[in-house]
Amino acid sequence: MQRIASCSCGSLKLTVDGEPTAVVACHCLACQRRTGSVFGVGAYFPRTRVSFSGPSRDYVRPTDAGHTFTSTFCPSCGTSLFWASGKSPDLIGVAVGAFVDPEFASPVRSVWEESKHGWVDIGVAAQHFPKGRT
Ligand SMILES: [Zn+2]
Ligand SMILES: [Zn+2]
Repeated sequence: MQRIASCSCGSLKLTVDGEPTAVVACHCLACQRRTGSVFGVGAYFPRTRVSFSGPSRDYVRPTDAGHTFTSTFCPSCGTSLFWASGKSPDLIGVAVGAFVDPEFASPVRSVWEESKHGWVDIGVAAQHFPKGRT
């Protein structure tokens, strides 16, 4: 099965093949800033099953663990569509909201709960971590 994720204006599109290896809700402060929301939700796919087209720009930041984190966004509308961590460069995280599919798989993991907003409850996730996955 192929799915397409798109930025707000539609010029940056990403196509994935098959099912994600994991869907993860992340409450870290960097995801809160990146998304402008109180947590981020990403679907992870092997890089080999992801292709994208359209203009894009990368924002690279260092992580606390000493890696880099690259988020790719649309230069026209600013949607942060996908990202990769230097720690796991073979995996691409795709912003789940960009699939505009309310039936999309729910998170199996909730991470960085130490900075989770108190009212947020990812009860559907089987695994919960105070920081990143250990
Ligand atoms: Zn756009
Ligand atoms: Zn995060």
